[in-house]
Amino acid sequence: MSRPKTPPYAIDPYDCGCTQCILGDFVPLREATDEHIALMVTGKLRNNTSVDFRITAQWSLSDGFRPVAATVSSVEVTAEVWNGPTLTWDLTSHLDGPLGQLFDPSTTDDR
Ligand SMILES: [Zn+2]
Repeated sequence: MSRPKTPPYAIDPYDCGCTQCILGDFVPLREATDEHIALMVTGKLRNNTSVDFRITAQWSLSDGFRPVAATVSSVEVTAEVWNGPTLTWDLTSHLDGPLGQLFDPSTTDDR
């Protein structure tokens, strides 16, 4: 797993105000952008949030019905913060990067 060379390096809990968050080395979940979440989902940012993320991907099937012909048309991530809000990030515009490979059937190993 490759780490980013520039901060932030991790996403911290929703209301975190630790030294790393103040310095910008980490980002509290309440300030996490779509890009931060895309990096976290692909393992580039550490997840220190203690919340469960729900990833919803919509697939489109082109001609025929073979699953390998399907492409992801949108990806949304939600997180319910305990005693707090439900957050939503739309990662659809990040599918060109490593996130897209995560949903690309041609890169998966079919054993
Ligand atoms: Zn923090």
